[in-house]
Amino acid sequence: MDGPSGTGKSTVSRRLAAECAAAYLDTGAMYRALTLAVLRAGLDGESAASADVAVGAVRSVRSVTDPKAPALLLDDEDVEPEIRGPEVTRAVSAVSAFPEVREALVGRQRELIADAVAESGGIVVEGRDIGSVVVPDAPLKVYLTASDDIRAARRAAQDRKAGRAADLDRVLADVRRRDRLDSTRKISPLHAAADALVLDTDELSVDAVLKRLLELVAERGMVS
Ligand code: C5P
Repeated sequence: MDGPSGTGKSTVSRRLAAECAAAYLDTGAMYRALTLAVLRAGLDGESAASADVAVGAVRSVRSVTDPKAPALLLDDEDVEPEIRGPEVTRAVSAVSAFPEVREALVGRQRELIADAVAESGGIVVEGRDIGSVVVPDAPLKVYLTASDDIRAARRAAQDRKAGRAADLDRVLADVRRRDRLDSTRKISPLHAAADALVLDTDELSVDAVLKRLLELVAERGMVS
């Protein structure tokens, strides 16, 4: 499940995984955790030293792949609220653009995916490069999109719900900035895989997207 932020990816992915008794992996949370490690080391996310710290932190990141209670641990500390905050959000696109960071994290993601498939029979993975790079042979690839304004409004609502200040113009500017960085980076830029189903969620509720995906999963015989 790929796409930019604010498309409903996380909610849809978690619910789809729960409905299919599959595991769930939020790869964005992993990039965010590495970014937190970089910021905690007193770095800005752009320097070469930032890439070294991020690569060094890959083995300290643990993803709990239960869709009903997903969690991200950094050195056994639950860092969930902190990785969603504005400092990490501002720096994460720079950290995730380093080729060596992506290489190390994609390797870790593939291990987690293989383990989850062996244990639960399947996994829903969300991110920016899942269908294009991480799992090019995935049996179902979905790319969610929505207009900038709608995505910013959803992000702002999420921030407010989590108790964070959210000025709509600032959130819109942040969303556009992150999209630009994520889709223009040299390695694994955000784009829909050629064989992905592209769904525009401007007019589609989470329930409607989920219904469509469950139909596809059934049609393709992906659940028993
Ligand atoms: O999905 P989320 O907004 O939490 O992702 C945070 C950031 O992590 C993205 O803006 C992007 O820079 C990076 N990311 C990535 N590849 C992924 C998932 C996330 O580069 N597969």
